[in-house]
Amino acid sequence: MTDKKEVILSGIRPTGRLHYGNYFGAIRHFLRLQETDACCYYFIADYHALTTITERQEIYRATLDMLRTYVACGLDPYKSVIYRQSDLPCTAELSLLLGMLTNIGHLERGTTYKDKFTRLQEDPKSEGNPLSYGLLGYPVLMAADILIVRADLVPVGDDQRQHLEMACDIAAKFNHRFGEVLHIPRPLGRDALRLPGLDGSEKMGKSENNTLDLLDPPKTVLDKIKAVPTTTEPAPLDTDSNDPDIVIGKMPSGVGVLYRLLSLLAPEEVYLDYLDQYRKGGKFYGSLKKAVAEYASQFNAPIIESYNDPAHNDDFIKEFLRENAKRVTPVALETVERCREAMGIGHSLYRA
Ligand code: ATP
Ligand code: MG
Repeated sequence: MTDKKEVILSGIRPTGRLHYGNYFGAIRHFLRLQETDACCYYFIADYHALTTITERQEIYRATLDMLRTYVACGLDPYKSVIYRQSDLPCTAELSLLLGMLTNIGHLERGTTYKDKFTRLQEDPKSEGNPLSYGLLGYPVLMAADILIVRADLVPVGDDQRQHLEMACDIAAKFNHRFGEVLHIPRPLGRDALRLPGLDGSEKMGKSENNTLDLLDPPKTVLDKIKAVPTTTEPAPLDTDSNDPDIVIGKMPSGVGVLYRLLSLLAPEEVYLDYLDQYRKGGKFYGSLKKAVAEYASQFNAPIIESYNDPAHNDDFIKEFLRENAKRVTPVALETVERCREAMGIGHSLYRA
């Protein structure tokens, strides 16, 4: 790996099972980029999961299971550097350094923090976890994840757009104050996706109980899709466009999710045919749901099969984690050392 190669970095929190939002927002890009000559770093964000998960037994297990799902989706730990965030503890040091120049007001405007703050104001018992310093500082740790490997591109879903912008702002501020040390990644493209939840809410999320998961067997897929709310009357689409980005926003929310899923999973003619039916009106939601469920089950089948392959056991995962931690560590340590030097602390003597 040379410095000239494009560097890709992205992570997923081990807070539950991988769902369609994770796949279409992030993993499908990981897979595409893995086949280029870019240097891809994909990690499991176990430090970040601590803002959500309180049960100590859960995180480690969830991390291994998620890595197994990464592999089942086609991520190759010998093509990409797949590692666990906590195996790179110098990320925490970089986060500390970056925190010194991050404005609290900036962090308080972070969407994840703000949403939780609002929910707690409305109902103090609604959240298991407190409003922690860790949650407030989440975007700083995320900035450290990105900047430590000097990423050019960060393939994430649209829900992470603001956090990525914060990372770029923090890096720019650092460079302005201490010299051109940090590499600033490209901003997220306009085509980044945000998949709504099966409950019709704005975002499918592991912690939201509204997901269609990659490991869901056919019966679960069908039950979940059948339960998508479609009772609202179809609204006129008010556009001739067939582009899912345009039409889905004009549909009742539950119906919009079904069309979004269909556009992602089915051949274009099937999507267009159902769109035509929507425009004509009539009772077709039963058939639409059945079609979406079938395409989703077909999509899941090879992932489930690979996930259950005994070769992808915990030992295999721990082995590649060890190897890949060794590949990413020198890159990361070099960045931290450059930042220490630039800020005036100087090199770490114990690492010398
Ligand atoms: P949690 O609810 O615990 O935050 P999550 O489902 O939001 O979990 P993350 O681990 O936070 O998942 O995010 C992993 C990646 O998946 C990120 O790149 C994020 O942008 C993407 N992602 C998550 N949910 C969606 C979604 N609904 N649509 C598109 N991308 C998504
Ligand atoms: Mg999230």
